[in-house]
Amino acid sequence: MSPHRLLASQFTPLLNALELTVQGWIGKHLSYAGRLELVRSVLFEVVLHRLTSICRNFLWTGNIGRNGSALVAWKFLCLPKVEGGLGLFDFKARNRSFLTKQLWNLHLKTDSVWIRWVHHYYLNHEDVWTIQPHQHSSPLWKSILSVRDLLSLRCGGTRETIQLMTTWDTNAGPFLAHAYQFLRPVGAPISWHRVVWEQWSLPKYSFILWLATLGKLRTRDRLRFIPIDPTCVFCRQEEESHSHLFFLCGWPNRLWSLVTAWLRLSRTMHSLSSALRWLYPHKRSMQARMNRVSLGLVVYLIWEERNRRVFDGNSRDVNIVFRRFQVLFYVIFHFHERDHSLLQVG
Ligand SMILES: [Zn+2]
Repeated sequence: MSPHRLLASQFTPLLNALELTVQGWIGKHLSYAGRLELVRSVLFEVVLHRLTSICRNFLWTGNIGRNGSALVAWKFLCLPKVEGGLGLFDFKARNRSFLTKQLWNLHLKTDSVWIRWVHHYYLNHEDVWTIQPHQHSSPLWKSILSVRDLLSLRCGGTRETIQLMTTWDTNAGPFLAHAYQFLRPVGAPISWHRVVWEQWSLPKYSFILWLATLGKLRTRDRLRFIPIDPTCVFCRQEEESHSHLFFLCGWPNRLWSLVTAWLRLSRTMHSLSSALRWLYPHKRSMQARMNRVSLGLVVYLIWEERNRRVFDGNSRDVNIVFRRFQVLFYVIFHFHERDHSLLQVG
């Protein structure tokens, strides 16, 4: 969430954890070829698995060693923003795209020592598209053939796979990027990403709005598996759900009324999805941008107030929170106003 570029020293805990994984291998007793094989395949798989779990733990708990429950599945986070995710790298798909590239090099019989070696020792005049791995084949070789079978299954046959990979090799863009696009997790396209990830907003507001849009914040209706009072901390009457907390309940509703009257928005918004539909996802005017910023800001302030009441037992009057909204609104507005005016003039 830092607005600044991360320093190398901030990655130290993550790198230390990876070093510990690598140190576990008895590297000194292996030949160069043996170590190369480990780096290429087994070690890479282990590191990918570890890397995913480190990143997941860090994102949801702030501690790489703590395995907390994730609010959103890692696979979903790796979807692009236009499909609802965060556009993170899917390490598994990236690894598979590297293996796909090796498969393609074997098909083309690219001139390299490794390809010649594989053709000589593994293929021995057999076809890379039909050969089956032996029980004692290397993990790398098994992985390549496993990716081959996956591609063939998705494309509907070997001929179709070769046709597709030929287009990857000739079309604009590197082969690996095409392969990754084909192998990455795919979700349904959504239209709200431009509102949720409004460029003028702050990442911390956008992130809470993104979780609220997905219905993934830990509201009390989602915690039925633990013995907890499910009623809303604002009204103490209704069950706390996303739709109740962010629009229907009295206190949040009064905050919305104050904000919409101040912004001179005539439309009454009854739910997060209707607000997301309405807030001009394609308009880049200052007004449209600040309306989108306001949505994220109000959702953030409601969630912040809810947490103050639940965890600290403190509650604030809605007018005080509205004034906080105005201050934050002006800070963001003045930060961008000058650049926007210059852009308009230019
Ligand atoms: Zn309520």
